[in-house]
Amino acid sequence: MTVLVNPRALRDHKARHFKMLIGGEWVSASADPIERVAPSHGVVVSSFQAGSKADAERAISAARNAFDTGPWSRMTGSERSRILLKAADLIAARSEELAYLDAIEAGKPISQVKGEIAGSVDIWRYAAALARDLHGESYNTLGEATLGVVLREAIGVVSIITPWNFPFLIVGQKLPFALAAGCTTVVKPSELTSGSTLVLGEILQEAGVPDGVVNIVTGTGPEVGAVMTSHPQVDMVSFTGSTGVGKLTMTNAAQTLKKVSLELGGKNPQIVFPDADLEAFIDAAVFGAYFNAGECCNAGSRLILHKSIAKDVVSRVSELARGVKVGDPLDPTTKVGAMITPQHLEKVAAYIAGAKDKGVEVAHGGETLDLGMGQFMAPTILSGVTPDMAVAREEVFGPVLSVLTFETTAEAVEIANSVDYGLSAGVWSRDFDTCLTIGRKVRAGTVWMNTFMDGASELPFGGYKQSGLGRELGRHSVEDYTETKTLNMHIGARTGWWMPQAADRRG
Ligand code: NAD
Repeated sequence: MTVLVNPRALRDHKARHFKMLIGGEWVSASADPIERVAPSHGVVVSSFQAGSKADAERAISAARNAFDTGPWSRMTGSERSRILLKAADLIAARSEELAYLDAIEAGKPISQVKGEIAGSVDIWRYAAALARDLHGESYNTLGEATLGVVLREAIGVVSIITPWNFPFLIVGQKLPFALAAGCTTVVKPSELTSGSTLVLGEILQEAGVPDGVVNIVTGTGPEVGAVMTSHPQVDMVSFTGSTGVGKLTMTNAAQTLKKVSLELGGKNPQIVFPDADLEAFIDAAVFGAYFNAGECCNAGSRLILHKSIAKDVVSRVSELARGVKVGDPLDPTTKVGAMITPQHLEKVAAYIAGAKDKGVEVAHGGETLDLGMGQFMAPTILSGVTPDMAVAREEVFGPVLSVLTFETTAEAVEIANSVDYGLSAGVWSRDFDTCLTIGRKVRAGTVWMNTFMDGASELPFGGYKQSGLGRELGRHSVEDYTETKTLNMHIGARTGWWMPQAADRRG
């Protein structure tokens, strides 16, 4: 089902021209700004500064200075928590504006983005709570003469680099935890969708985050990102994006041995057994594959179906997919919005064409859609896919579902684990043993059982294998932005190593 793009929806939209935030000042870059054309309506909706290497260096230096001199890094947890809570309230107050920016810059359905902003508010509040609970350990069991204290100290300056598919949500999975720990930051949003992150900069200033603690530099990866991942004054890089750029990030960071946290791509399976609640699963299959137009690291892009139910499931998933509304992201009933760029749409279409060449059957969709303007892709189901094919192994990052089949549990696990990725997986069965067997054997950071893509601020998220390194969210997320320091304290006279009399003197 399609929702034609309403050409009037953005006719009166005045493009917003954003500046960058460096050392508490909103500044311009010397190069011409980057213009963002709405992927749904084809008009310029925002422009961002094309930051240079020098801009990135100035931002790093502002963050370094803010960290080394305080006050943010020296505040009590309670003071930082209060400011983060204020930020959460301000995000909630400006949620309509933030949702609108993400919808028009990324082509995401407006009703979906509103949910993402609400989720983000919850994460900021959760991080605020953790700011008060960051603590180390003590060891009083090391003998009479020793007391050991293990401190958690803010790691220092953190570079945060984010992608375009969840612009506001993803910066919220990193920044509040880094701030809770007492770090200072340089943030680079995707050059395609920087608007909501820049509004966040205004919000954080209003909430009372001191100058230089959060710097936001817009621009391209090779220009700005490369400096942020290699500069000696940066202590840690937290990156979300493609596996390719993630590897480059790690290589750059290795030159100065920075700590690196990586959230990368996925090729996530949903494994379905004949005893599953198929009605619930059919909905989750459609949601998993087409949520965010499949431009989602967590997309359930592989269905691994028991052979005995495959035909029935493909026909039921196709039937439901037919009703999914694709089109104008600003229409509140839309479920699947626009594809991020014309080049990306072509890449997704090429994957489908390649699969067809290999004899794969298109059970539903398979074509690009002309909705009057913008770039759209029909929800697509490919059946008869085998584990060796590109559409079974690579991250297509579009609304494309690949259907594979299995006969034994061991085969299902083998297919699930046969790709380079290991971000998430789903298993569907009414049998507890089956769910737990799959849950233990699938190599993925999250395994959903009889549900898909649920999340909570309390639950860690991240990938095995080439899906990443480290975890976000959960109670340990603040600790990721810390160094561990041991204070090893001696009590009373110390036995000498070379000159025993030295110890005698003190005794
Ligand atoms: P991308 O890797 O192209 O870009 C991500 C960010 O890196 C952008 O800000 C970009 O400007 C920057 N960048 C590009 N080149 C760089 C360089 N040389 N040095 C430093 N930074 C550089 O990814 P994308 O296309 O924006 O996003 C899609 C990818 O992100 C998908 O692979 C998706 O799976 C992944 N992703 C992962 C998660 C997760 O949590 N695991 C979440 C969302 C997206």
